[in-house]
Amino acid sequence: MTIRNGLVDTIGHTPLIRLKRASEETGCEILGKAEFLNPGQSVKDRAALGIIRDAMARGTLEPGGVIVEGTAGNTGIGLALVAAPFGFRTVIVIPDTQSQEKKDMLRLAGATLVEVPAVPYSNPNNYVKVSGRLAEALARTEPHGAIWANQFDNVANRQAHIDTTGPEIWDQTAGKVDGFVCSVGTGGTFAGVGMALKARNPTVKIALADPMGAALYSYYTTGELKSEGSSITEGIGQGRITANLEDAPVDMAFQIPDSEAIPLVFDLLEHEGLCLGGSSGVNVAGAIRLARELGPGHTIVTILCDFGTRYQSKLFNPAFLRSKALPVPAWLERSPAVPN
Ligand code: PMP
Repeated sequence: MTIRNGLVDTIGHTPLIRLKRASEETGCEILGKAEFLNPGQSVKDRAALGIIRDAMARGTLEPGGVIVEGTAGNTGIGLALVAAPFGFRTVIVIPDTQSQEKKDMLRLAGATLVEVPAVPYSNPNNYVKVSGRLAEALARTEPHGAIWANQFDNVANRQAHIDTTGPEIWDQTAGKVDGFVCSVGTGGTFAGVGMALKARNPTVKIALADPMGAALYSYYTTGELKSEGSSITEGIGQGRITANLEDAPVDMAFQIPDSEAIPLVFDLLEHEGLCLGGSSGVNVAGAIRLARELGPGHTIVTILCDFGTRYQSKLFNPAFLRSKALPVPAWLERSPAVPN
């Protein structure tokens, strides 16, 4: 296929990239699925398309209809871009802690933005709950209706990964994949890829890479949802078992501090030219940990979730890093992404 029929046809079929330093260091083949090459520059384009297609198939979304979602940004960008060719509008509820770049991109993609204070899920004013109520209200007033994408508990999200990301990884490795590891926002990627790979080979090891501040490492190792610490990564760090996570195959779990993940993001840019966001650092750190568990000679796949320019004002800003007591690489100190 040399000519793609519009934006929707450019989502997915991303390359699998051998991560040189991580592979050499561990004696394993560590491969990153280049989801930052999707048209919206993140893995969430797949979920956005899956959710929209599912709603259209069910007849809940008609032309002119509104898609409402609570999102850390990437899902909203995916929804807004995919909505355009179908003639839908998007209303995005976003916590005010998310990067300015993501908010700017959302507006550029035509989304109406509703910024809310970042409060825990237990609070009725949490962005996810606000988006659900807003969708209900708009469904009553919008002439062509409104739906709540509900990425956390709408399993059309993980189905997109069962149908596309997982099978792509299987085909690209010709079935020679020993382990898969990634972090969780909604759990769609983790559970969907895990399920797709396990269905093809039950001995594949599926491992969670959890940032500090999330509760899933504790859940999968002790059965208790408990969290400690915090992370500057965005889009990941879950405190509950979402519908997308239910029945996810989990063989192992790792807890990855920012001090381990963030330097990997810098290394990947400096030495391999891969410009990625913080969650990709957590994932690559998880892949290195899984490689150490399995020993040399194994093939391990992880997700390179989104493009790094989305975080220039934070992750690639020396002043911000210093404020979080994170080390600043010498090259970034010499040429900061934003003026000091
Ligand atoms: N990384 C980034 C940057 C994200 O935005 C997200 C989605 N929130 C994820 C990882 C996690 O993906 P998922 O929702 O499929 O768990």
